[in-house]
Amino acid sequence: MSLAKYKEKRNFTSTPEPQAGKSTFPDSFSFVVQRHKASHLHYDFRLEMGGVLKSWAVPRGPSLNPADKRLAMMVEDHPYDYKDFKGVIPSGYGAGIVEIWDKGSYHGIDEHGKPIDAKKLKTALKTGNLKFSLKGKKLKGDFALVKLKNAEKGNEWLLIKHRDKYAVDQPYDSEEETLKNSPINKWLAENKKPLKKKPVKKQ
Ligand code: MN
Repeated sequence: MSLAKYKEKRNFTSTPEPQAGKSTFPDSFSFVVQRHKASHLHYDFRLEMGGVLKSWAVPRGPSLNPADKRLAMMVEDHPYDYKDFKGVIPSGYGAGIVEIWDKGSYHGIDEHGKPIDAKKLKTALKTGNLKFSLKGKKLKGDFALVKLKNAEKGNEWLLIKHRDKYAVDQPYDSEEETLKNSPINKWLAENKKPLKKKPVKKQ
């Protein structure tokens, strides 16, 4: 039942019950990271915002090492239901295989790591400085997506892990965090191309 119904049923001049007030619990949303074997193998990092999935293509995949600044190209919004998609995309746009690499929930944070609401989150996206905390299976803790000011194409961002208890110092390779028998890994194993021989220079 709606909050309007709650108000309708009460006469606030005669009851001490609260009339208004907002939860201070952070607005929590879904996130997903899909591994996508298209013409190039890449990762798609998606954050639910305003009913859609804000999306970035991350060629090298996310990292838990704060020293890594992973290029993230902002791409078109995807529908909310895309967060559960895995499978084969037939010939055409994005043709290839999609698998879910990680998923969970997230909320926006301010510069002090304090939760922010959905409105402030949208503002942060607009200003090109988005900070958030992830609760996934692989990705945990605080991250930032920062838009490059003098970006060549205008859609280049950097995905950076903040230093916290989930951060690692050793090199992080998202490819190593995939299941050996995942659909993409099976495809890669079956379609391994032999290394091309370098053309012999004529003297
Ligand atoms: Mn993709």
